[in-house]
Order: sequence, then C-alpha cells, then structure tokens
Amino acid sequence: MILPILQTGHPVLRAVARELSLDEIRSEPIEVLIHNMKQTMRAAPGVGLAAPQIGESIQLIVIEDTADEQTKLNDDQLAQRERIPVPFHVLINPKLNLIGNERVDFFEGCLSVAGYAALTPRHRSLSVTALNELAEEVTIDATGWYARIIQHEVDHLNGSLYIDRMDSTTFSTVENKMKFWD
Ligand code: ZN
Repeated sequence: MILPILQTGHPVLRAVARELSLDEIRSEPIEVLIHNMKQTMRAAPGVGLAAPQIGESIQLIVIEDTADEQTKLNDDQLAQRERIPVPFHVLINPKLNLIGNERVDFFEGCLSVAGYAALTPRHRSLSVTALNELAEEVTIDATGWYARIIQHEVDHLNGSLYIDRMDSTTFSTVENKMKFWD
C-alpha cells in the first residue's frame, strides 16, 4: 500500500520518535509497515523514508538509491556527490557516529517539503549502528551521498528537517534550482 507522506507543518515531523523493542521489530505490523514504506518510497520516488513521514513516530528508516534513480544525474554529478547505488535496507533505532570535520555542500530536498531544495551542509563520512528488520545489529560505514541520506533520515527521527540546516539564501523551488543552480 502506498501511504500518504506528511508535509512540513505536521507536528509528527517535529516529534522525537521512540525506539522499537526487539519484539516489535519482529512483529507482523512492523513487517507490513516496512513493506508499505518501501512501496511509498519507490512511488514517490525517493532514496529514503523515515517512519514519522508517514505518521508513525518510531525509529525506523528505509533507504534505497538505485542505479535507475541515478540516471537523472550525469557521470560528473554522480562523481562529485560520491553517489553510488545502495540496495534496499532498513535501519531501526540508529546510533549515528559522525566521522571527522569534513563537510560537503549539495542541494538536498525532502519528500515532506515537496517541491523545494536548498544547499545543505552534511558530514562526508559517518558510521551508524542500528538493527535491521530481523532485529540483528548492523554497523555501516558510509561516505558521500549515502552518508547524506543517512544523516537526513536520522534527522527525521529527531524531529529535524533539512530546512533547519540549510543555507536559507539558496532555498529554491525545484524548478528554479534546475534553472539557476545546476
Ligand atoms: Zn526527508
């Protein structure tokens, strides 16, 4: 089922999401939720979706950055962004460890701030420890665009949006971003 994606202004997007217990993670409702979030992310289309965006204030994220989605950018743009395909996966109760001080600036958008984008600084590298959909602990090292996606989605679990971190003078409609900035 494709779920409606909440837009900025909805209080759930500003709440701190609660952690899931191991029993909840292995439950059927969460299995169904993950399936629906995958479908919703793919339909949008997007490269990540956090549970608060569909009205569930729980610490669950789905991520997928397909080669197909990346054909919207040319090879230079992909290389600048250090953007490589990332298979579908689930992060639950993630703990973020930002690595180093190196920051990178790229335009970023959000399915909950539909139609806009802005230059947003993010750490280039990080490590994240989380549980997967089987409630197994996983640790992931990420750099570049993948690290940006993870930071963006973990922000959602803390009630934060990219507009809290953006260079607000660059805040643009997607149309104007393509016209004047790309
Ligand atoms: Zn978002």
